[in-house]
Amino acid sequence: MRRAPRANPYRDSWAGDLSADSAGSRARVSGWVHNRRDHGGLIFIDLRDRAGIVQLVFHPQNGAELFAAAEKLRSEYVVSVAGDVVLREQGNVNPELATGEIEIQARQVTVLARSATPPFPLDGDVELDEMTRLRHRTLDLRRRYMVDALVLRHEVVRTIRETLSDEDFLEVETPILTRSTPEGARDFLVPARLSPGNFYALPQSPQLFKQLLMIAGYERYFQIARCFRDEDLRADRQPEFTQLDLEMSFVDEDDVIDVNERLMAKVFELGGLDLPAPPYERMAYDEALLRFGSDRPDRRFGLEITDVSEHLRASQFKVFASVVGGGGVVRAINAGQREVPRKELDELTEVARRAGAGGLVWAFVQEDGTWRSPIAKFLSHEEIAAVTAALGAQPGELLLAVADSAAVAANALGVLRLELAERWKLVAAGRHDVLWVVDFPMFDRNEDEHRWDALHHPFTAPTAPTGTSAEDLEADGGGPGSWRSRAYDLVVDGWELGGGSIRIHDPAVQRKVFEAIGMDEDEAEQRFGFLLEALRFGAPPHGGIAFGIDRIVTLLAGRDSIRDVIAFPKTASGSDPLTGAPAPVDAKQLRELGLRSTAAPGG
Ligand code: ASP
Repeated sequence: MRRAPRANPYRDSWAGDLSADSAGSRARVSGWVHNRRDHGGLIFIDLRDRAGIVQLVFHPQNGAELFAAAEKLRSEYVVSVAGDVVLREQGNVNPELATGEIEIQARQVTVLARSATPPFPLDGDVELDEMTRLRHRTLDLRRRYMVDALVLRHEVVRTIRETLSDEDFLEVETPILTRSTPEGARDFLVPARLSPGNFYALPQSPQLFKQLLMIAGYERYFQIARCFRDEDLRADRQPEFTQLDLEMSFVDEDDVIDVNERLMAKVFELGGLDLPAPPYERMAYDEALLRFGSDRPDRRFGLEITDVSEHLRASQFKVFASVVGGGGVVRAINAGQREVPRKELDELTEVARRAGAGGLVWAFVQEDGTWRSPIAKFLSHEEIAAVTAALGAQPGELLLAVADSAAVAANALGVLRLELAERWKLVAAGRHDVLWVVDFPMFDRNEDEHRWDALHHPFTAPTAPTGTSAEDLEADGGGPGSWRSRAYDLVVDGWELGGGSIRIHDPAVQRKVFEAIGMDEDEAEQRFGFLLEALRFGAPPHGGIAFGIDRIVTLLAGRDSIRDVIAFPKTASGSDPLTGAPAPVDAKQLRELGLRSTAAPGG
């Protein structure tokens, strides 16, 4: 329950907190006119403050002047009203409203501000296009829908701060104007006026600073940190976003995971998510890719992927035999009992193609166990029977298969199963799932640039089969492509909510990783010299993680877009319709910065 406001000429109570307990007393409330209804000589006003809504009633017999004033009130006028809190008659109780048992018989009203007619009504669940909402964000933020989201967001951050403080973490701020940091996205740059020709970069994450804090001996750090990545935007991305960033010293994976899953369990409770209590299940990256085609598996519906390569290695059907013979795979999904028209099968094939596959094989299992499929005639009875059995398929069920490299088949079927879940509404309402994905490869091959890219980031500790030292990595015949990393991701409902790793604390290992990603000593020294130097002065073993706060709140609030849980978000194209950012600047400003724009502004 909120503490009552200090009584002043504006108010002595929160409108939205009045209840039957206050009946019989006088109250003064302030807020916005949510709506006005004129009923047979009475005027009803719903008055809104942040706490909620209370109904005001204006009787003509309480004064002609008062009544006339009420008649002039319009939506979104700001008023202060004093009156008697009374119980409503039985039939008039409104169970939809927290204050629905009472109403205020108004005795006095002061208009504190008038309002122009709002561009959209604020008192209902009207569907508004996002552009309108963002353009008029101040008004949009008045809606309960947004208040609820931001209150929840606050509760999430408060829970994080309290829990981590109790676990001996220190909140430390790190710079916004800094040098390029290593998350691998494009930087936002800020020209440095006092150092012409030089630029700050906005941090993609506090990664290096938090490692420096560990080397400095701070042991346990966290921050609610703003991060900036100049990436092409997608539905669940913003150019600036908020992370819970944390780091710990003298720990291994289990320590980091333990603190964080206890913390996250509390956070998930705020949204009433029905999830198992920690410890959460852990799944190896390879298994996630094999069974779900993704390193952020969504396990809320079936449609698991099965590798059927072995049954088709010797097939007369050349496509399968040559893919498997060439080191590729055939993998398939049992899509279940479903009559899917040809047109939809074509659409699904297109989905698989866009995800990189050459095509999609479909087959319906018939009563006699044979297949109705364009490729049925190329397969032997044994092959059909073996694949049907491997997929546990019954008559009437639809099988979907991709033959390709393991990576392409995994990705295509991973994308396909999400598409099927969406099309066929396979996720039951209120169903949630949480797991850690662990045991990642250290690197991804970047074929275009002929080098290895760190899958997490290049400060993540690698492991070779024999150990984690520079000598172990050296001795490992498999080379960087065979190294694993000590990284972990927390995945909820197919979303990567957080990711982190145990870090490198040995300068020799750090050099090996830089070498593997094609960064020579000079470049490493130039970009990350300050970290390399710190590592030479006694770095403790350390590790940490970062969680996307916007995503967490979106999930807890059951919203579709992170823009619904950010007070002032940007559109999908990175602009802010409220302030008009990004916007051109004066020629003078550019001159001072030593810059000249080659692009026409406004484009
Ligand atoms: N800095 C990483 C990120 O922002 C998280 C971490 O490794 O702690 O993704």
